[in-house]
Amino acid sequence: MKISEIFYSIQGEGMLLGTPSVFVRTSGCNLRCHWCDTPYASWKPEGEDLYLGSILAEVRRYWADYVVITGGEPMIVKDMVRFTQQLKTLGFHITIETAGTVFEPVDCDLMSISPKLSNSTPTTIEGGRWAAQHERLRIQPEVLKKLISAYPYQLKFVVEEPGDIAEIRSLVDDLNADRRRVVLMAEGTDSETLHERSLWLADICREEKYRFTPRLHIDLYGNRRGV
Ligand code: SF4
Repeated sequence: MKISEIFYSIQGEGMLLGTPSVFVRTSGCNLRCHWCDTPYASWKPEGEDLYLGSILAEVRRYWADYVVITGGEPMIVKDMVRFTQQLKTLGFHITIETAGTVFEPVDCDLMSISPKLSNSTPTTIEGGRWAAQHERLRIQPEVLKKLISAYPYQLKFVVEEPGDIAEIRSLVDDLNADRRRVVLMAEGTDSETLHERSLWLADICREEKYRFTPRLHIDLYGNRRGV
């Protein structure tokens, strides 16, 4: 399994905000968001091929109860089902952070689904060569419905501007999702941008009855690896 990094930190986003967790970041993604904050796991996937045994040994080293499998896109990784089964056997609470374009019958306690809005399409990067694939794959309604019905979930959206809300509302309605499980987060990789966008986003959450999440790890540690 190609792994970009394994580290112990505090969950900085979503319904488990603040939970001490071991993060396992897989490398490789089928999307190319223009604002991706982990390009080393998507645009230029780096990492090491590790055996499941080595990954599990590293995870166990931290004595944590919670494991977050993130990426990249974990659901396209070979052996992900087996990996989650083994984590479950060891008693971990498992969160999987996915864009929700692929379904695999993994073991998972919180499916953290982050469908990518049109604000993510990379029209200008690398001459726009990834834009068509990204646009074709980014929303897979049948996969999203299956994930939502199979797992406890949160639907986490990255919001760049207030105009994004119409797209979110429409998708949440189409999926018949529970709005208490819809989490909005401002796009940004520095505290200043996040603070400025969070002010109007919090207002939107009040009106729409969606949850608001900060990006706590950016505030605490800045936009860097291993946190
Ligand atoms: S889906 Fe996630 S990892 Fe993949 S490009 Fe988008 S933000 Fe990056």
